[in-house]
Amino acid sequence: MTNQTYPFQLPPLPFHADALEPYLEARTLRIHHDEHHRVYVEKLNAALQNYPELHGLTIENLLRKLDDVPWAIRTAVGNNGGGHLNHALFWSLIGTPDQTFAGGPLRDAINASFGSIEGFRQAFREVATAHFASGWVFLVADVEKNTLEVLALPDHQCVLGTQQRVLLICDVWEHAYYLKHQQKRADYLDCWWQVANWQEAARRFNAPNDVGA
Ligand code: MN
Repeated sequence: MTNQTYPFQLPPLPFHADALEPYLEARTLRIHHDEHHRVYVEKLNAALQNYPELHGLTIENLLRKLDDVPWAIRTAVGNNGGGHLNHALFWSLIGTPDQTFAGGPLRDAINASFGSIEGFRQAFREVATAHFASGWVFLVADVEKNTLEVLALPDHQCVLGTQQRVLLICDVWEHAYYLKHQQKRADYLDCWWQVANWQEAARRFNAPNDVGA
């Protein structure tokens, strides 16, 4: 999606909606993708419709240059564009729960930054459960410091800097889990852990020039 420009399109789920059962159930995934994500894309396109000078920009470049976007649509582009980008990343970084954790350089980096895989899991869980209200939690590779970090951002803010690459992303908006887990975000995080797409995370870690934001 990194080369896509206006009109932006809802990317299809890269798996059947019931393929992540019992961890992420089909009903929530369908509503989340077919309704929530679709509406972000539609509202993003609606905001941009009358601004042809912006139609050649990718979603990453639109968000990076948000301060240059006309004031009248800046909030709409930031919120809905960020929602589109983060959800597209989210679908690509979850998958069927039969995966084994990736070995190789990513495992070495996790061990170096968090002590162990379990150490990373605990760090991610702490940040994600402590984050107030809606937002996203990321595992990012800091290119300059050569470390991995867990960070949370509010609303639909995105990781856009060239210094940080997203390796994993978890949606902690209540719409991601409320039907099954109600307010129990920690239970949802345990389920998300079972479907984290380690193959794609490793690909992004190993091929940084190929992955976009
Ligand atoms: Mn969401």
